[in-house]
Amino acid sequence: MQKIRILPDNLANQIAAGEVVERPASVIKELVENSIDAAATRVTVDIELGGRRLMRISDDGHGMVRDDAILAFERHATSKIRTLEDLAAIGTLGFRGEALASIASVAKVELITKIVDELAATRVVIEGGRLIDVKDAARDTGTTIAVRDLFFNTPARRKFMRSEATENYHIASIVTHYALAHPEIAFTLTNNGREVLRVAPAKDLRERSFQIFGSQMLDSLLPVSGGREYVARVSGFISAPRERRTNRDSQYFFVNNRFVRDKTIAGGLLEGYRSVLPHGVYPVAFLFLDVPLEEIDVNVHPAKTEIRFRRNEAVKDVIAEAIREALAKAGIVAEPSEIPQSTSVAVNFALAADIPAVDQSRMDFDISEPSREDPVLYSVAAAQAEASSAVSEAPHAPTHDHEPEDKLALFAEAFERAAEARVDAVEPSSVYPVLPPVNDGAHIAKPVEVADVSVGGIRPMGQLHESFIIAVDDEGLLLIDQHVAHERILFDKFRRKETDRAVESQNLLLPETVDLTPAQSQAFELVEDEMASIGFGLMRLSGRTVAIKSIPTDLPAAEVRNLFAEILDNIDLEKRGSGKATLRDDIAASLACKAAVKINMKLTAEKMQWLIDRLLTTSSPTTCPHGRPVILRLSMKDIERGFHRT
Ligand code: ADP
Ligand code: MG
Repeated sequence: MQKIRILPDNLANQIAAGEVVERPASVIKELVENSIDAAATRVTVDIELGGRRLMRISDDGHGMVRDDAILAFERHATSKIRTLEDLAAIGTLGFRGEALASIASVAKVELITKIVDELAATRVVIEGGRLIDVKDAARDTGTTIAVRDLFFNTPARRKFMRSEATENYHIASIVTHYALAHPEIAFTLTNNGREVLRVAPAKDLRERSFQIFGSQMLDSLLPVSGGREYVARVSGFISAPRERRTNRDSQYFFVNNRFVRDKTIAGGLLEGYRSVLPHGVYPVAFLFLDVPLEEIDVNVHPAKTEIRFRRNEAVKDVIAEAIREALAKAGIVAEPSEIPQSTSVAVNFALAADIPAVDQSRMDFDISEPSREDPVLYSVAAAQAEASSAVSEAPHAPTHDHEPEDKLALFAEAFERAAEARVDAVEPSSVYPVLPPVNDGAHIAKPVEVADVSVGGIRPMGQLHESFIIAVDDEGLLLIDQHVAHERILFDKFRRKETDRAVESQNLLLPETVDLTPAQSQAFELVEDEMASIGFGLMRLSGRTVAIKSIPTDLPAAEVRNLFAEILDNIDLEKRGSGKATLRDDIAASLACKAAVKINMKLTAEKMQWLIDRLLTTSSPTTCPHGRPVILRLSMKDIERGFHRT
């Protein structure tokens, strides 16, 4: 049995550092918070080698007297709270008195600080928790802390440090957060001497957003101002539905000006966008909550990015309400419920039987444009228009993300509706306003295996819901998801680009400029070459603006901006180590998705045939790059069985 003993201070600090100092970005976070707590009006952050070699934060805050400058590195040394009562109502960002002690225990730290009433500044040097030197120095009022060689004395931690690029991304993101939370403070961030962010004091969040994100983003931001007294006041900006992200990286939440990651707030935000944004798509948001101090507990996590609300549900409701109000003010109103069942499978259908004995080559697929003389087709189309406007700003109609089971149901029901439409069209005075129940085809339509696709023999007949190609081959009927089919074709093409020499790209009439966020601009350096190799002509202009001079031939110019955001925000920087191939695949998949024909888009017969022919030459014609099926089949055998003909 070992005897229990109290750990020496320095060891205790190193253990605490495991929670506070997770990575370079967490050091930056703690030090920037200290500067803000010290009432700084100007904060400068310089990093080298992703923060490994150097992180230096300078501010013009109130500084420290010499005794405090030494004491600050003791654990539980804080000037911010004194009593238990203070802990219940914390108005500063720091309060645990742990950060400096933790940081100094795992790095080489130099602190220079001066208060306004003294002539000389104090310089304190601490390495691995050991006080090395204290003496006079020179500087203006304020504090500079330089942190060098992070984890130099904890080799195990050092090994787990991510790549330089990953850390740069996180640091840029942290500084951006605080710059948004404090428009009144000037921020500068440099990386290896190059400027990543520089913003002068701004009068409000809107002006600050403009400084950071540029005018493009600002144009799509809607102001939020709502909430309820005693629960939470909600302010900030959210994006119009056309601005869309595939992850939550562009959502910034602050509670009493403290940057937090919080499920309650994220949940309230998403709830507010319900039926406005489709599943899996996230808005951009800067949300500031003002919450009475006694309503929250900020002392939940050493890094203080998590908080606890006393009344979770109330806070969530208040946020959702504020979001809905903001959207409504901009004229964006969610449908009362999901799309009604009756219109969700509105059919736009051209069945071969409608055009008897027409020569294939002259077959006109263009009967989907309904006229008012044809009340049935017209109402079907109207219903369809309604159905798609319910998600008017959505990148994909809701059917797109459905699981294969749903597709089968859709298939079955579509047959039903098609039959209905035909019966009515032929005989408007039909005794049935709707067709009586027909047999369900769900159990007989199956995803197609590669081996079952007959090369060359597939003929398109028309489109279902302007989204699925209806085709026949010798084996029976096929339904092809036009978007994922095209996605597969393009994915293979873009991935091949590396080996092929000729890069097909089109020059834009006017170069498009994109303003990158500081974090995106760090990610851009990683993907620049890959993007050039698949047909982008890119040029970095001053600061964080990139000019796009040319784009891959298949990409519609209107998609460039969203594609850029998607690639830069989704590049999983951690994956960098695992090779270039995955990075290229990720970019190719994003590009393929943006460039592919959408669902709810009418295709000519030629285009459908082209899609089918090209699809069959791809590496995997029956699954899309994300693993979804591309083709469903209803075989002759099953059709005959369905009609009891066998
Ligand atoms: P906390 O922020 O939780 O109080 P820290 O370890 O981060 O704990 O800092 C300890 C103390 O050092 C702070 O309470 C503050 O008094 C002082 N301090 C730290 N950074 C600064 C700074 N940039 N300017 C002035 N005082 C500072
Ligand atoms: Mg602190």
